[in-house]
Amino acid sequence: MSGNGPAPGGHLYLDHNATTPLKPAVKAAMVQAMDLVGNPSSVHAFGRSARRAVDEARAAVAALAGVRPAQVLFTGSGTEANNLALRGFTTRTVLVSAIEHESVLAAAPDAPRLPACRDGTIDLAALERALAAAASAPLVSLMLANNETGVIQPVAEATRIAHAHGALLHCDAVQAAGRIPLSFPALGADLMTLSAHKLGGPAGVGALILAEGLEPEALIRGGGQERRKRAGTENLLGIVGFGAAARQALDTLPDAAALAPLRDRLECEALAAVPQARVMGGLAARVPNTSCLVLPGVPGETQVMGLDLAGVAVSAGSACSSGKVKPSHVLAAMGEDAAAAASAIRVSLGWTSDDETVDRFLAAWIAMARRSARA
Ligand code: PLP
Repeated sequence: MSGNGPAPGGHLYLDHNATTPLKPAVKAAMVQAMDLVGNPSSVHAFGRSARRAVDEARAAVAALAGVRPAQVLFTGSGTEANNLALRGFTTRTVLVSAIEHESVLAAAPDAPRLPACRDGTIDLAALERALAAAASAPLVSLMLANNETGVIQPVAEATRIAHAHGALLHCDAVQAAGRIPLSFPALGADLMTLSAHKLGGPAGVGALILAEGLEPEALIRGGGQERRKRAGTENLLGIVGFGAAARQALDTLPDAAALAPLRDRLECEALAAVPQARVMGGLAARVPNTSCLVLPGVPGETQVMGLDLAGVAVSAGSACSSGKVKPSHVLAAMGEDAAAAASAIRVSLGWTSDDETVDRFLAAWIAMARRSARA
């Protein structure tokens, strides 16, 4: 691993939750796949080799999730998989957690939002109450790991509660895959979302994992691809990259786990040097790579820009495609006041991170915090 990562001018990349740099083995697999000319739906030899590549990738993604290949449906992104899960069962109402990613919240804008506890986990008693009061059995959407705090959610327990009330459970596992062991059967969920670019694969390809026999209504209609659940000629390069990233993710889970001591040292030394700073979600179980740091009085956006000038890339709040930063709805749901929710940054480590990464981040962030305190 290199402390710099594949960065512009030696910049340090600490924004793996936004997107991970493509892993070299993934890039190699994608470059090789560029020579495949066939459409996977064609019956001739070219089509058959393209189909084989899709099948191999499907098997690799299935292995990552602990399911059969037939349960994997490729989509154009994690966002699309979340939309298909939430909008593909029109007879069900939807219940979401208040800390979900925008792609879940916006797919069900009228859905009641389940509150979070102060530690960043979802309130299971509130789920139980909401389900008991529901007129019909809904579909519940709860993420496995939060993208801002890294807090791991009690999905298996939520599934048990949901099923006891006849509800379905969808789990957005985009930020958990490749960071902690993942098992769709162990979660007991009915649907699960994955995205390739959070685990060393390319952006623009995701997957929805489906329990056996579950058939969402297609959002994108046309040809018979993906069992008519997602029409459109397959994104062969993206799917091959996803497969390679899934294989890599399984092989390198111990490396992902080894990020926890790095992240913990980062937090420990940051808090020791800047006592007014706080870690959000630090009391709950988290994925090993994520740290949400609040520096009271300094807007997250200001911190991101200051760090960028020092050659360190992190993000603030929920990064939107427009580049605008809003106060974090996740921290607000955890009961943090507006000032704290607006002064958080997310530092997310990954396969390019090492001890030197942490040292360089700490030097830049501590200097910035001390400058802000003097200003
Ligand atoms: N779900 C979570 C938790 C995410 O963090 C993201 C991306 O940031 C998504 C879904 C969306 O995935 P994609 O970028 O593939 O659309």
